[in-house]
Amino acid sequence: MSREYCPKCEKALGGCICKYATEVANDSFITILRHPSEIKNIKGTAGILKLSLQRIRLIDSEIFEKDDVLLKDFENILIYPSESSCELTQMNFSKNKSYNFIFIDGTWKKAFKIFQLNSFLSEIPCIHLELERVSSYSKIRKQREGGFSTLEAVTEVLSFVDNTPLENLENNFKSFINDLSKFTDS
Ligand SMILES: [Zn+2]
Repeated sequence: MSREYCPKCEKALGGCICKYATEVANDSFITILRHPSEIKNIKGTAGILKLSLQRIRLIDSEIFEKDDVLLKDFENILIYPSESSCELTQMNFSKNKSYNFIFIDGTWKKAFKIFQLNSFLSEIPCIHLELERVSSYSKIRKQREGGFSTLEAVTEVLSFVDNTPLENLENNFKSFINDLSKFTDS
């Protein structure tokens, strides 16, 4: 018998993430480049973002087309800790510009590979995040020091640039973490 999948989030029914989704009216565009190894990962957070955000694209691949990722008439900015990246709060964002923030969803190793394989990503402005608080996500998934989930990275950028209200999403994320840690503790 084949496994049954939720038609909305496409996860196996036992791991349906639809209950964590909430409407988020973000102004800036979010583009997530998801490594294929993340698609079936129950700890992945890109799916919750896809179901929640008003302006979001989720592209699954390892090699991407420049024209699919970069948006015309937008300022395209990559979120990645590269050698030339500057910290989010050091950047000047203009209210008159539209932004497309590009995130790479995958382990650090996979994200590095995507950054290497898609050279156009190193040709656009690049920012990194410094979260002072320890990511609640580290409870369920070991991250490099200072690492955090894609959802936390996206909310960090949106709250800084857009002033998008994100309380509901952040609360749902906490429930997601709690539910998952019950899984992983046992
Ligand atoms: Zn679902």
